[in-house]
Amino acid sequence: QAARPTVLIVARLPQHLMQLLHDNFNCHNLLDGLSEEQLQAIAPSVRGIAANGEAKVPREFMARFPALEIVSVFGVGYDGVDVPAARERGIHVTHTPDVLTDDVADMAIALMLATARNVVRADRFARSGEWKNGPFPFTTKVSGARLGIVGLGRIGEAIARRAAGFDMDIAYHNRSRKDVAYTYYSDIKSLAAAVDFLVMITPGGAGTRALVNAEVLEALGPKGFLINVARGSVVDEAALIAALKAGKIAGAGLDVFENEPNIPAELAALENVVLTPHMASGTLVTRTAMADLAFNNLQAHFSGKPVVTPVPN
Ligand code: NDP
Repeated sequence: QAARPTVLIVARLPQHLMQLLHDNFNCHNLLDGLSEEQLQAIAPSVRGIAANGEAKVPREFMARFPALEIVSVFGVGYDGVDVPAARERGIHVTHTPDVLTDDVADMAIALMLATARNVVRADRFARSGEWKNGPFPFTTKVSGARLGIVGLGRIGEAIARRAAGFDMDIAYHNRSRKDVAYTYYSDIKSLAAAVDFLVMITPGGAGTRALVNAEVLEALGPKGFLINVARGSVVDEAALIAALKAGKIAGAGLDVFENEPNIPAELAALENVVLTPHMASGTLVTRTAMADLAFNNLQAHFSGKPVVTPVPN
């Protein structure tokens, strides 16, 4: 099988993608406990890296592979990959946009409804028989409320389209204004002050780190809800926990966390949060499409064709 390109797998990937990789390439898996010696032995032959959105692929790591040509990320976010370092060496970086847009937007709406309508606690209330002691406490209306989207890109726009069906009043913050009918805010704090629900759906990385800090939460206010389906790094988690505890905001729906898969016990103990394990794109159909696309990028490149979905400049 000497002709097969060598691909190094550096993250936990779904079975379907693992199968495609193993069927077509000469694969080594960092998660199989490759020793330093083994890694050194294969390093000169590695032409591709298969990663996911959480995997760290820094400059120093890529530097170990002199024949590296492509890093294929399973996921749309690629904040773990040092793209400038890759570009310097002409290494392609690809990701899986679009195919997951619907699911992530659906999940943002699900978290918004679950948090405002207290769906998870209501389920426990109904199951436990607590209901016999009296009705469930009132919750917060979503239809017609004011929504602020931070990151009106592919997924942000899909969230806005869904929210329009709930008659929500829609505003957004990006670094640059878009040609859309929604109200634009050039800073996140004034957006937070103007809405009932603040939904985070930007990329992660240095440019968005702790975009939501204590001040932004203060602006969102005691009736406001924070929804984060972007990356844990975009929210100052300690400030969020403090705000939730002090009633400075009403609640939070979170799919992503600073130190996944670890969630601070203090956060998990709160009643005014709904927490999901970074599963916004996690439907069978979508994860299969993501796997196909992550594979197709590698396959196209190694067949001498242009990659399908390179990360933008
Ligand atoms: P896009 O690139 O289409 O959209 C990103 C948007 O964020 C753009 O509108 C951009 O506008 C805005 N943005 C970027 N930087 C900033 C900033 N510093 N401040 C404010 N806005 C900013 O990406 P997608 O919509 O496809 O995906 C967005 C992100 O969602 C992914 O990068 C990933 O992190 C996250 N995600 C999470 C998933 C999950 O499982 N929870 C699944 C999939 C994606 P502008 O350039 O004008 O600032």
